[in-house]
Amino acid sequence: MQETATKISAVDFDEIRKEFPVLHQEMNGHPLVYLDNAASSQMPVQVADRLDYYHRFEHSNVHRGIHTLSQRATDSYEAARKKIQVFINAADENEIIFTSGTTDSINLVANSYGMTNFSEGDEVILTEMEHHANIVPWQMVAQKTGAIIKVIPVTDSGELDIEAYKKLLSPRTKMVSVIHISNALGTINPVKEIVALAHEAGAVTLIDGAQSIPHQNIDIQDIGTDFYVFSSHKMCGPTGFGILYGRKDLLEAMPPYRGGGDMIDKVSFEETTYNVVPFRFEAGTPPIAASIGLSEAVDYLSAIGMDAIETQETKLVEYAVQELSAINGLRFIGEAKKRASVVSFVFDHIHASDLGTILDKQGIAVRTGHHCAQPIMRRFNVPATTRASIAFYNNKEDVDRLIEGINYAKSFFE
Ligand SMILES: *Cc1c(COP(=O)(O)O)cnc(C)c1O
Repeated sequence: MQETATKISAVDFDEIRKEFPVLHQEMNGHPLVYLDNAASSQMPVQVADRLDYYHRFEHSNVHRGIHTLSQRATDSYEAARKKIQVFINAADENEIIFTSGTTDSINLVANSYGMTNFSEGDEVILTEMEHHANIVPWQMVAQKTGAIIKVIPVTDSGELDIEAYKKLLSPRTKMVSVIHISNALGTINPVKEIVALAHEAGAVTLIDGAQSIPHQNIDIQDIGTDFYVFSSHKMCGPTGFGILYGRKDLLEAMPPYRGGGDMIDKVSFEETTYNVVPFRFEAGTPPIAASIGLSEAVDYLSAIGMDAIETQETKLVEYAVQELSAINGLRFIGEAKKRASVVSFVFDHIHASDLGTILDKQGIAVRTGHHCAQPIMRRFNVPATTRASIAFYNNKEDVDRLIEGINYAKSFFE
């Protein structure tokens, strides 16, 4: 315990903040306060430099060339797969599929796994707090297969009703697909318990880890989930890239989702046979640079330590909640006992988009709107919230500037 505490306090987050050039500029005449990390995180110089070096000196296509440059690119690309496997403690590197992001990963599972395994009357369990990326692909596949979507309700404090979940599970449940940390409420869901209950019922599970991967240590084998998905751009990596983790035996039984180069074994006009996993799911020239960028981001996050990051972010979120609580008329949306990095709130007499605009004029970037989660907005009877989302490179001054900014905005409406 003592040892961990010393290690964590040894991380100098003021120094780390200096490694993010984007944070050290003015926006609308004020020093930028970036509190929109749940939409996309910022990139440290180490990752930007690595991408730059790749583009200047290492670029070539992968898996095709006999020449040395192509072999180097292939080695770096495959090393990224290994790095990500170790980062999330997956059992096998071939369980890591490169996609264009969380959305793409879920579409892949819904179309490949769902289309082959769902039939009329089968059930897919989601939650009321899902991101649209974990709703719409399942609806599309349900329409084609006759499967039915069931929804775990959310309590007034923004937590999942686990008793209701237990009642929804049945022999008809084929898939349970659940968000790990809510991007709209900040709730941390008990995914290990959710997965265990699903498995008892004979269902397969998918965890949307877009918000949990940048915030805490993820151990796939400990969670025990069959699929886990996340995006590179929310964990200090480049955009347009993401990961699908899938259990090997499930992936091996799944048909390809997209056809093209790289995913094949033999092609003729009469018949095509497919490549092995993971290549079967990576048609065409993959995002080579992005995979190398994410690999560097993983090194960067690992060097700081995910435990230190979690501790730092929790401290900042607690500070933000404490300071925001003191503002008259502010109402939190989402007050789960276990919450992370996201604080969502509303005012009865100030529209979120007006507040967001006034904050932006002061150089403060927050997100306003439905956060791609309209069902949970409806659940709380609000059209939109203002969301401040915190990363480890934020600091107390960022929170103080947010509070000042809100108080200034309030003065217009009183
Ligand atoms: C951002 C996000 C997504 C979508 O990620 P993309 O990178 O846009 O594909 C899905 N789920 C959650 C929880 C998110 O925060």
